[in-house]
Amino acid sequence: MIVDNLARIQSSIEHCAKEYAKHNHLVAHKVTLVAVTKYQSVDSIIALHNLGHCVFGENKVQDLKAKIQAINAIKENLDSNKLVKTTKQHLEVPFFWHFIGTLQTNKINALLALQPILIHSVDSFALALTLDERCKRIDRIQDVLLQVNAANEATKHGFSLESAYDAFLEIRHKVTNLRLRGIMSIGAHSEDKAVVYDSFARTKELYDKIPDVDTLSMGMSEDFVEAIACGSNMVRIGSALFKDDTI
Ligand SMILES: *Cc1c(COP(=O)(O)O)cnc(C)c1O
Repeated sequence: MIVDNLARIQSSIEHCAKEYAKHNHLVAHKVTLVAVTKYQSVDSIIALHNLGHCVFGENKVQDLKAKIQAINAIKENLDSNKLVKTTKQHLEVPFFWHFIGTLQTNKINALLALQPILIHSVDSFALALTLDERCKRIDRIQDVLLQVNAANEATKHGFSLESAYDAFLEIRHKVTNLRLRGIMSIGAHSEDKAVVYDSFARTKELYDKIPDVDTLSMGMSEDFVEAIACGSNMVRIGSALFKDDTI
């Protein structure tokens, strides 16, 4: 059940964060959980939201739009039904949507219209500059992360670890309407935990060199423990949260 998955994952995140703080002599280490809702039904998303979880992530613009519209439609229909007042009150609590997928230029306007709280996946100079231009047009300041391909895998998007530092500073210097908050990376695709760990550790090294950043988004269902051990402060978890998807 989702309620059990959420409790288990939250407690695991908390444990990993405490260990990280202890090893690094920090007072505390806070990790944000982004619930990745790709492939999930609106009912499951609302169930998670009813449990008090408000931070969600989607990887396709059209799916994000459909889900936001479906949730809004449910909210509106509830207006006329007094019996479900508590559900309605729950739904008034905002949903904070993160965009985590590959962003095509022809989807930028549609995405910005949905007002994502954070875009994790700025993976090229061209995308950064186009996104900035579109934000300028609508007078929006957009929080973003640069995506790094830490394991140098051909199947993945993003800046190489070697080029990311210069790219980050150059993009930050050039844009006016993007706020570059940090780095996102997907861990190495490997059964070998040491290889995964290494890809996270190298991403953290890069992150530590960049001035004025506060968000290091790395870690998914299978590898968030390693990611937090390497200093991640934002994990994107889907399948482990929604598995056995009974509400
Ligand atoms: C799907 C996805 C996730 C979540 O993956 P799980 O293995 O289901 O936790 C995280 N980040 C990105 C970019 C994704 O596309």
